[in-house]
Amino acid sequence: MNCRLCCREAEENGFCQLHSKAYKNVLEKFRVWEAASNVIWSQYLVEIQKNSLTGVWAKEVAKYLIEEENQK
Ligand SMILES: [Zn+2]
Repeated sequence: MNCRLCCREAEENGFCQLHSKAYKNVLEKFRVWEAASNVIWSQYLVEIQKNSLTGVWAKEVAKYLIEEENQK
């Protein structure tokens, strides 16, 4: 099985090692943001995608998660 975001081999959560790491960072950061500002998940994803400090990998993950949210 390939990563949900690139053609590398998926390792964890359906993501490759790099995207999985980024995914975990995104989740971890959300807990911090949520505690500090009551931001909701979808809002948070949009924010980190816009944020210039967010790494490329995390941005790809955020984009994917936004699309996933929109499909619900
Ligand atoms: Zn990947």
